[in-house]
Amino acid sequence: MATQLGADSHPLRVAVIGSGPAAFYAVEHLLKQINLVVEVDMFDRLPTPFGLVRGGVAPDHAKIKTVTKAYTQIASHPRFRFYGNVEFGQHLKLTDFREHYHQILYATGAQTDRRMGIPGEDLAGSHPATEFVAWYNGHPDYSDLKFDLTQECAAVVGVGNVAIDVARILCRTVDELKQTDIADYALEALSQSKIKEVYLLGRRGPAQAAFTNPEIKEVGEMQDADVFTLANEVELDDLSKAALATSADRSLIKKVEILQGYATRQPSGKSRQLTVRFLVSPVELFGDEQGRMTKMKLVKNVLVASETGSLNAKATGQFEELPVSLVFRSVGYRGVPLPEVPFHERWGVILNEKGRVIDPDTKQPRVGEYTTGWIKRGPSGVIGTNKPDSVETATCMLDDVEQGAVLQPIQPEWDCVEKLVRERQPRYCTFADWLKLDELELSRGKAAGRPRLKFTNVAEMLTALNK
Ligand code: NAP
Repeated sequence: MATQLGADSHPLRVAVIGSGPAAFYAVEHLLKQINLVVEVDMFDRLPTPFGLVRGGVAPDHAKIKTVTKAYTQIASHPRFRFYGNVEFGQHLKLTDFREHYHQILYATGAQTDRRMGIPGEDLAGSHPATEFVAWYNGHPDYSDLKFDLTQECAAVVGVGNVAIDVARILCRTVDELKQTDIADYALEALSQSKIKEVYLLGRRGPAQAAFTNPEIKEVGEMQDADVFTLANEVELDDLSKAALATSADRSLIKKVEILQGYATRQPSGKSRQLTVRFLVSPVELFGDEQGRMTKMKLVKNVLVASETGSLNAKATGQFEELPVSLVFRSVGYRGVPLPEVPFHERWGVILNEKGRVIDPDTKQPRVGEYTTGWIKRGPSGVIGTNKPDSVETATCMLDDVEQGAVLQPIQPEWDCVEKLVRERQPRYCTFADWLKLDELELSRGKAAGRPRLKFTNVAEMLTALNK
C-alpha cells in the first residue's frame, strides 16, 4: 500500500518563490500542521531574505523591521531550507519545480511601479519612487542609480505611505539618517543634498489621502524640516463632509484635523520645507534641451461622486506650474509576471482565486500552483495584512492535499533538489549564509557607529561568504 502524502516517510514538499512577509506567513501556517509532515524550500533571486522588509520599509522605521525575528524563528524549523541567489525561470524553471514538489507557492510581491501616463514622464529627473526606495535601502539591483540631489525643489506624486517615506527621507538631516540602516552610498549622497522644498501631491482631498495617521504625524516632528498644508486645500468640500459624517472610520476625522493643523503652522526657521498639497494632478513635465526636467504643470481638481459613491478627482480648467526639477511618482507598486505563470495584465497580479492559480483558458485552478501577498491581491495593506492573506492560500493548499489534488513529482526528495540547485547555481546561499551576512552587517555597522551597514551588491555578499 502506498504511504500517505504527509506521513513522516512521504512529506508534502512545497516550494515557495520569494521570501517576504507573505511567504513566511504561509510557511508558518504550513509547518505548524500537526497531522501533516511538510517540507518547505524557499527560493529568492537575492542572497538575502525578507523582501520589502529589507528593501522597502524605510530605514528610519527600524521597529517595523523587527518582524524579521519572527521570520528567522520560522526559518529555524528543521524542515525549512532557503535557496538564495536562485532565480525562478532562470536557474530553475517551472518544469523543474513540477518535477520536485507537490505544491509551488508564488510570493514574489510587486516589483515595479505604476506610471502616471503623462507627457514628459521619462525626462531625466523623473523617477519611480519604487526605485528611489530600493536605492536608499541598498537593493543590489538599484545600488548604481543616481538621483540629482543638487536641485532645490522636488515633488512626490501620490499621498500614500510610500510617498510619505520618500518625502521624509528627502527631508531628514544627516544626523537622523546616520542612526538608520540606510545604504552607505545613499547616506553620502543625501548628506550633499541641496533640496530645500519638497511637495507631496494628492489628486483628491485630505479626507481621501491614503497615508495613515502615525505617518502624517511623524512628518510634523522632523528635526530640520517644517511641514505645511494650504488652508484652502484642506478645507473639506460638501461631499467629503457628508462622507466623513457617515464614516465609521474615526481615524479619518483625526487625519483631516492633523492636516488642517499643518495649515496653521508658521515657518520655524528650519532648513527644509515639506508642503502637502491636495486636489492637484500633474498633467505634464517639461524639460530643457538636454532632456532634463525643469518644471511640472498641475491641474486643479474638484471632487465628484461616482456611481458607486466613491469620490473621484475631476480636472478643472485651472492650471499652475511648479518649479520642480526632481519628481518621484509614488502612485502604487505593480506586480511583474513570472515565466509560464498566468498573469492578469490590467490588475498586475497572478490570476488566482483565493490563492489558487487559475488557468486563463479553462478558468480552472492549475493543480499544485498557488500565490500569496502583493502578487496575489495587489500592492495594498501593511505587513500584517499578509498574515490572513497567506493563511487563506495555505488553507486552500491543505484542502487540496486532502483531496489529493497535488502535483506528482518524480523526484520529491530534498537532496535531489539540492543537487539540482548546486548544478544550476553553485553559488546559491543558505539561511546559515544569510545569518552570517547579517552578523557581518551588524558588526560593520557597529564599527561605523551605525545600527547596520548593508551589503549592497551580490558580488560583495558572495565574497564575504567565500563563495
Ligand atoms: P497607496 O497607499 O495605494 O497610495 C497610492 C497613492 O497614489 C494614492 O494617494 C493614490 O491616490 C495615488 N495615485 C494613484 N494613481 C495616481 C495618479 N495617476 N495620479 C496621482 N496620484 C495617483 O500605495 P503606496 O503608497 O505605494 O503603498 C502601498 C501599500 O504599502 C499601502 O497599503 C501602504 O499603506 C503600505 N505601506 C505602509 C507603510 C507603513 O506602514 N509605514 C509604509 C509604506 C507602504 P488615489 O487615492 O486618489 O487613488
